[in-house]
Amino acid sequence: ATLAPDIAALVERRRKSYGAGSVLFYDEPLKIVRAEGAYLYASDGRGYLDFYNNVPTVGHCHPKVVEAVQRQVGAFNIHSRYLFDISHDYAEKLLATFPPALSNLVLTCTGSESNDLALRMAKRISGGSGFVVTRTAYHGNTATVTEVSPSSYKRGAPPPHVRLVPPPDPALFGNDVAQGFADAVADAIAAMEADGIKFAGLLVDTIFSSDGVYADPPGFLKAAVEVAHKAGGLFIADEVQPGFGRTGAGMWGFSRHGVMPDIVTMGKPMGNGYPIAGVVTRPEILTAFCDDFGYFNTFAASPLATAAALAVLEAIEEDGLIANAASVGRHLMARLKHLQAKAPITAVRGAGLYLGVEFGDEQGPAPEIAKGLINGLRQRGILIGAAGQYGNVLKIRPPLCVTTVHADELVDAMADLLA
Ligand code: PMP
Repeated sequence: ATLAPDIAALVERRRKSYGAGSVLFYDEPLKIVRAEGAYLYASDGRGYLDFYNNVPTVGHCHPKVVEAVQRQVGAFNIHSRYLFDISHDYAEKLLATFPPALSNLVLTCTGSESNDLALRMAKRISGGSGFVVTRTAYHGNTATVTEVSPSSYKRGAPPPHVRLVPPPDPALFGNDVAQGFADAVADAIAAMEADGIKFAGLLVDTIFSSDGVYADPPGFLKAAVEVAHKAGGLFIADEVQPGFGRTGAGMWGFSRHGVMPDIVTMGKPMGNGYPIAGVVTRPEILTAFCDDFGYFNTFAASPLATAAALAVLEAIEEDGLIANAASVGRHLMARLKHLQAKAPITAVRGAGLYLGVEFGDEQGPAPEIAKGLINGLRQRGILIGAAGQYGNVLKIRPPLCVTTVHADELVDAMADLLA
């Protein structure tokens, strides 16, 4: 695409400063100037409907979150080694959404830090060092967490203590996804132990986002979690993507599966854009970890972070966002299934407002269709991304405040572009 002069100049400045680390969305990148609800507004004067973003989960610039942050930043903001009310109000409200056994919270600033800590806890409790993750998983960016994030590898293989299993895809495992996935986990554990590596844990994103979104049937994770526990490892539920109501079936993705994690990690939507993340676990796990190591995180659990996060929990409740995720998600799913009959779509899947539309045909995956749609939708004012091993799964993940009108706008535009 030929870029407008101001955009071309900004792209060039970015390339100079941020170098090879700079990745931009769209053939024609967007310059954002403000945001509200489900919309981002760009320098071209247009509003863009955001179907990409699961960080502003209660809506961009939600007035409640803006007000809470403004109020707290003007009052005081310090690290967590003082007493103040708001972090306790927050911890209690958040923990009340978990099964009672999961009663301790550690706050961090990013999903990566949360997963890093979870891996350390799992090693400490199990005495092992080996982890099983899915083949296109992403769990974060620290040195340790990058090892369990195969979607980040541009070349090379995982280190010996990391074993990959296929995603829970009915196309691979047929009708019994639960058994197929559990068998794959069991085989991976057996293979690592045959190499002399003790198993420490199974780490999965409970909606398998970067693998291409796999949600059904609810409960399929149960068998794999049993396998992990029998083998002496822990089950770590990464709720960075499905957490905070996105699946429309309660707050957490793991509860759709009726499983009990040993450790839950969360992030992204937690502060609606303010960097706050966390780990929830049983007290004995945290106590054992703290016997060996101190853990301090300068910016985590600050009054400012917890003010943002408390406002998010209140907004989810007050705005009825979990019910909205369920009902708008159901509508969107029905319309996409209808579209499937008329387009090269091999699967439509997901839960609530996290849906995946997989493009392909008998020849195989069709990432070029997903890519074409991403750029075509951007031209029509709708923002969206892709996932999956082949990049052929359109990833539908809007703020939870979207309506059926927004959903119709997306599917109508997709239908038009596909035709
Ligand atoms: N886990 C999952 C499932 C994620 O999608 C991400 C971020 N994409 C992370 C962890 C890491 O979170 P952060 O970028 O906040 O470190």
